[in-house]
Amino acid sequence: MDVTRITLDENELPKRWYNIAADLPTPLDPPLNPQTKEPITPDDLSAIFPMSLIKQEMSTDRWIDIPGEVRDIYALWRPTPLYRAMRLEKALKTPARIYYKWEGVSPPGSHKPNTAVAQTYYNAKAGIERIATETGAGQWGSALSFATRLFDLECTVYMVRISYDQKLYRRVMMETWGGKVFPSPSNKTECGRRFLAEAPDTTGSLGMAISEAVEDAATHEDTNYALGSVLNHVMLHQTVIGLEIQKQFEIAEETPDVMFGCVGGGSNFAGAVFPYIGDTLQGKADSPRIVSCEPASCPTLTKGLYAYDFGDTGKMTPLLKMYTLGHDFVPAGIHAGGLRYHGNSPLLSKLTHEGYMDAVACKQTDVFKSALLFARTEGFILAPETAHCVHSVVEEALRCRQTGEEKVLFFCGSGHGDFDLVAYDDYLNGRIVDPEEPTEAIKRSISKLPEV
Ligand SMILES: *Cc1c(COP(=O)(O)O)cnc(C)c1O
Repeated sequence: MDVTRITLDENELPKRWYNIAADLPTPLDPPLNPQTKEPITPDDLSAIFPMSLIKQEMSTDRWIDIPGEVRDIYALWRPTPLYRAMRLEKALKTPARIYYKWEGVSPPGSHKPNTAVAQTYYNAKAGIERIATETGAGQWGSALSFATRLFDLECTVYMVRISYDQKLYRRVMMETWGGKVFPSPSNKTECGRRFLAEAPDTTGSLGMAISEAVEDAATHEDTNYALGSVLNHVMLHQTVIGLEIQKQFEIAEETPDVMFGCVGGGSNFAGAVFPYIGDTLQGKADSPRIVSCEPASCPTLTKGLYAYDFGDTGKMTPLLKMYTLGHDFVPAGIHAGGLRYHGNSPLLSKLTHEGYMDAVACKQTDVFKSALLFARTEGFILAPETAHCVHSVVEEALRCRQTGEEKVLFFCGSGHGDFDLVAYDDYLNGRIVDPEEPTEAIKRSISKLPEV
């Protein structure tokens, strides 16, 4: 019998995270201090991060131990299952075999607690009492509200205005775990007041919300900042996903030919594929084809520039070398808040720039069409973010139907869409339209990249 769900025992939960910085052919371009344009020092970051995380951010050790307390919390939902999507295969009449890793089983419903729990642990150890952060669709704010509750820390969440208005239940979820949520831009911070003065009706963006959270953390002694994606230590923590996938494919006696994942800041997909790319970099295995999937309305990897830019709209963060659409690019208000980010992980950007990973951009109408097909074959209602890579899997599976290739296709199921039903309602009632491609807006914002 073909196996539908490949599970691991609790004691097979990885004991170490994999750090791909150890295996890069050339080192990462360092983040720069925006004033001096010199590489930032650990001290530059210590106002908003604990030293243990700053060390991880800069580490080139290949393996980093997962603390016991973090593993104990992971065990609430990890190891997560690897599914074979046989009903989807059948509906597509494809000879391809489709697998997906399901991160939707965590309490907040996505991969994000993998790093939220780790980051909260290190902040708690450092004596921090409150963490400030931003959230787009609400997944990261939920994950951090959940994690801070378990360690008895306070949590302040700046939630992108459009999501705050669209996603009442995400806010209630955060508040249930004790998080305090403000729509961003807010009048709680100086930069928030400035954004509001410039554009009172703005939908907000992750870039603006990050500025607010960083300002909050930098101006309060007992408060640190946490980022849900982009940074190296976040990619590191998410590798629990890929390390489990490797064991699960071994059990299934399969090797993925093509791996897909949706990419906002890059963390779920990096977590899924960095252990595979690491094996390739170490000469241990051929690489599968690796494809990042992003929205056509925020096409960072496919239309952005590989350059130094700010991580936020308010120009408070260090300059990161990454694919970027420009720090003041405001993407259309699509129902995939987690993918509305102008930049990307420096690690994932470098690996894309050097040809280890590909990228494609997907249209909203296509994405929801595939999400509906998935829900009606496999049952799970996926987050609109996740649906981006499902669309690419469907297209590849249909190509396999034409060529007869029995490829093994994989996608990372980053989260469920149980709080995204307004988006599904919009699709079911014909209200999802493809925003115009933001070619001119990208040109404008890219022309304002900082000089280094
Ligand atoms: C946040 C989020 C994403 C995008 O973030 P990455 O860092 O690129 O993973 C994708 N899917 C879900 C469900 C999310 O919550």
